[in-house]
Amino acid sequence: MLRTIKRALSLGRKRDIPLIEESLWRRATQNYAFIARLTPEENRRLRYIASEFLAGKSITGAQGIEITELMRVQIAAQACILVLELGVQNYEGWQEIVVYPSQFVPEREVVDDAGVVHTTRNPLSGEAWLGGPVVLSYEDVARSGDPELAIDGYNVVIHEFAHKLDMLNGEPNGFPPLHRGMRRDTWQQAFMQAYLAFCKAADKAEQLLHYDRGAALDALPIDPYAAESPAEFFAVMSEAFFETPEVVAEAFPDVFAQLKLFYRQDPLRT
Ligand SMILES: [Zn+2]
Repeated sequence: MLRTIKRALSLGRKRDIPLIEESLWRRATQNYAFIARLTPEENRRLRYIASEFLAGKSITGAQGIEITELMRVQIAAQACILVLELGVQNYEGWQEIVVYPSQFVPEREVVDDAGVVHTTRNPLSGEAWLGGPVVLSYEDVARSGDPELAIDGYNVVIHEFAHKLDMLNGEPNGFPPLHRGMRRDTWQQAFMQAYLAFCKAADKAEQLLHYDRGAALDALPIDPYAAESPAEFFAVMSEAFFETPEVVAEAFPDVFAQLKLFYRQDPLRT
């Protein structure tokens, strides 16, 4: 009985949600590589999920940027591709998305190993807070849908929302809560092996960088930022999984298999 009532309530809630208009949806999403791979049914479902996502989030502009409907839909579509088969409830528990016109430079105090406090000012394209907001640079958000500016495998929205999924069980560490039937040891092994190998490759590429920048970057199949930590590795792998899945499948087949199970999607299915 309770279940029926809950279901009726949630259905009732859904009926109140304004659906993203189809022409706006098409305009916002037409250039995303991950959209081209969806069946018409999945595309429609993603639009519903994105509509529900927008109903539950407030998106505000910082530094004078005006947030348009198109921008809201671009952010929602990219955030929701991750949860197409998992449900938008994975993004519950926080509300705010803050959008800067371009890279933003938060001032942070960090304490080094010697106990000295430093103020850092590193420009960021995005960040995701545990239990708090997602912050995005719109210049970077727009990049992934722009055929002229897109960088292979790069998608700041997917990156930050992968961190949000990772944070469903606490501080981000590249170990999000797995589904029933997935094995923690298999996940751990696939990711750790790939991460350590990637860090080695990134070190080599860094040495090469002084002589031949092109060759150095070519030697790395995904964004070198992935070497930063296991959490960043998972977020960058998630970007590449949806943007350039063939690269992940070829260079990191075990990670690709785990991501297919985790996202319950196969971007390479024919
Ligand atoms: Zn990150």
